[in-house]
Amino acid sequence: MERRKLLLALAAAPLAFTRICAHAQAKTMKDIDALQKNWKNFLPAGATVPSASEPLKLSKDEWKKRLPPQSYNVLREEGTERAGTSPLNDEKRAGIYACAGCGLPVFTSEMKFESGTGWPSFFTTIPGAFDMKKDFYLIYPRTEYHCKRCGGHHGHVFDDGPPPTNQRWCNNGVSLKFIPKDSKV
Ligand SMILES: [Zn+2]
Repeated sequence: MERRKLLLALAAAPLAFTRICAHAQAKTMKDIDALQKNWKNFLPAGATVPSASEPLKLSKDEWKKRLPPQSYNVLREEGTERAGTSPLNDEKRAGIYACAGCGLPVFTSEMKFESGTGWPSFFTTIPGAFDMKKDFYLIYPRTEYHCKRCGGHHGHVFDDGPPPTNQRWCNNGVSLKFIPKDSKV
């Protein structure tokens, strides 16, 4: 009987250990799922936003007219803004980060973290916001991501972000437009 109790205790030990570890992390994958599912809670009351199912296709000239030069360079020509230049690095308010090209919501304020890189950084995204592609501008391949609705370039995703996603979505600030949750629409 004693031996049986001991075996049961041993069998239960790894489970208890896993639970403690999961608890010690800032966020679990369950929290990430909830953040992704509930992103609309970060929209201002009454706000309407476009969806990826209504693609926005414009000519080069139309984009040039619509966007400030720096946003045009990053979104339409895959440029990169200088590190540390975006006011969004210090943005701490609750709200939605939308694509500066077409207004598609791509991140919420709860998905942002301080990466110390000088670019706004996020550990996950609003589901279905981006398409991915590998680029070889540097010697090693990087995963570039662009807006699902307008095709605008936003940044690159790396695997050195915080747990549990370990993702770092390194985004150009000029590709984003911040919509505070408490703004009037
Ligand atoms: Zn867009």
